[in-house]
Amino acid sequence: MMSLRDVRKTRGEGSQRYSLVIPRLELAAGRQFALVGPSGSGKSTVLDLLALVLSPDGAQRFDFISDQGHVDVFGLWRAARQNQLAQLRSRQIGYVLQTGGLLSYLDVRSNIDLPRQLLDLPDDGSVERLAAQLEVSEHLHKKPQALSVGQRQRVSCARALAHHPHVLLADEPTASLDPLNALRVMQLLLGRVREQGACCVIATHDEGLARNAGLHPLRIACSRDEDGGVTATLEDAR
Ligand code: ADP
Ligand code: MG
Repeated sequence: MMSLRDVRKTRGEGSQRYSLVIPRLELAAGRQFALVGPSGSGKSTVLDLLALVLSPDGAQRFDFISDQGHVDVFGLWRAARQNQLAQLRSRQIGYVLQTGGLLSYLDVRSNIDLPRQLLDLPDDGSVERLAAQLEVSEHLHKKPQALSVGQRQRVSCARALAHHPHVLLADEPTASLDPLNALRVMQLLLGRVREQGACCVIATHDEGLARNAGLHPLRIACSRDEDGGVTATLEDAR
């Protein structure tokens, strides 16, 4: 679904420079990865690149492969094809942001339905089904602020899955939950990803949680360079 070779991104400069290298990453249907590393190692940077919201500086290959064909994502960035990137993003990718990212003026149902509305998809019962599976059915008419943190995170997960994306990305989706709730939300999320035949990359600083949830760990190794900047390299995934 996504195939990356030697993808690079640098942020900041001098001793503040942070450079990420992704030597090789293959995201295929059914694969479930955990992006593990301490704070500042680049988990969100990797996810933003995969979510097509952050432009790579260079890439030998950054392709999106689906039943509709092969898309050269790096080529789209180079040619500034923002519309095509946005289209690919909204159809194929679901992203659970660290802060949840729910809209406070919409009720839970409309929040979950949002990606489908944006794509003009017909009501096929997906919203109700996901709400039931993620155990938020009784909250569909409430505003997000009336929910607990754990409930809000489950709503964010449901929203990221509502349009049946091929790639599900999540940025520390359970960081604000106690360990039992964290594992529960993770398992509910992964169950749906499996059912939809998607692949996922979930950032977490909790390697134990990743292991317990059965995720394949992808570590980010950081090294300090002579100029004081940092180079972070993502472990190979095949
Ligand atoms: P993590 O998610 O693992 O905590 P991040 O991807 O947020 O790590 O950050 C990786 C590095 O990139 C950090 O050194 C951070 O300071 C830097 N960084 C993140 N966002 C920006 C930005 N918008 N501009 C410049 N540097 C950034
Ligand atoms: Mg982060």
